[in-house]
Amino acid sequence: MSAEFDGLVAVVTGGASGIGAAIAAELGARGAQVAVLDRDVTGAADGVFGVVADVTDDASVRAAIEAVVEHFGRLDIVVNNAGIGAQGTVEDNPDAEWQRVWDVNVLGMVRVARAALPALRRSPAAAIVNTCSVAANVGLPQRALYSATKGAVLGLTRAMAADHLREGIRVNCVNPGTADTPWVGRLLSAAADPVAERAALEARQPHGRLVSAAEVADAVAYLASPRSRSTTGTSITVDGGLESLRLRPA
Ligand code: NAD
Repeated sequence: MSAEFDGLVAVVTGGASGIGAAIAAELGARGAQVAVLDRDVTGAADGVFGVVADVTDDASVRAAIEAVVEHFGRLDIVVNNAGIGAQGTVEDNPDAEWQRVWDVNVLGMVRVARAALPALRRSPAAAIVNTCSVAANVGLPQRALYSATKGAVLGLTRAMAADHLREGIRVNCVNPGTADTPWVGRLLSAAADPVAERAALEARQPHGRLVSAAEVADAVAYLASPRSRSTTGTSITVDGGLESLRLRPA
């Protein structure tokens, strides 16, 4: 029996850890040939084509996408997932920090898309999926810089969907809530009592637990697949109800 992504090639940025690693695994399990573009590919799964590149470096992004296309002969799916966090109000982060995080979270996606578009135009099943966040849609305290970057990702997703609709390239994003990844693990381990902090974080989620990276990956796989061929310029939120519901945990 043929798998959903048989014959298709996907590149996943930030695919060596957390949500990106789950996306790489999910697309691979569904038959895609997967390349992981990451500044550190040591955590990438066996069987993926790992390419070291930093999304803040245009030349390295171009070289990485060229290497993927040369290796597999095509490129069909781009998952723009690499991203970094930032905490604080607008008074807490100097301009240089705004520029550093923006360079990864927003311009990084622009660079990867720009490098990949020529190959995507040759694909009969082209899709870009950007990892955005609920932070694009709700006001989270102490997340001014991070939320601004994810708001930009949402706008970028919609505008690119309009620009490339007639070329047959769909562009969507996924909005995870708090997901159980090494990133969140790092934040928790910095707390005075990591176990209590995790319990408190879980209790703040409407469904009482963190979102799993695999759940996010499943939504990305749908948006990357021709099953969602009528869906572009929009997002799927995977957050246990955090964004839409006004429930307090029981
Ligand atoms: P993670 O830290 O576990 O993984 C991020 C990966 O991106 C790492 O492999 C890292 O090496 C790579 N990366 C970072 N900067 C890079 C750069 N400049 N060039 C190339 N690769 C780079 O993080 P995660 O939790 O899996 O987050 C992945 C994405 O999901 C991010 O875009 C993040 O904003 C988004 N997100 C995460 C959560 C969450 O709660 N974990 C929630 C919403 C959105």
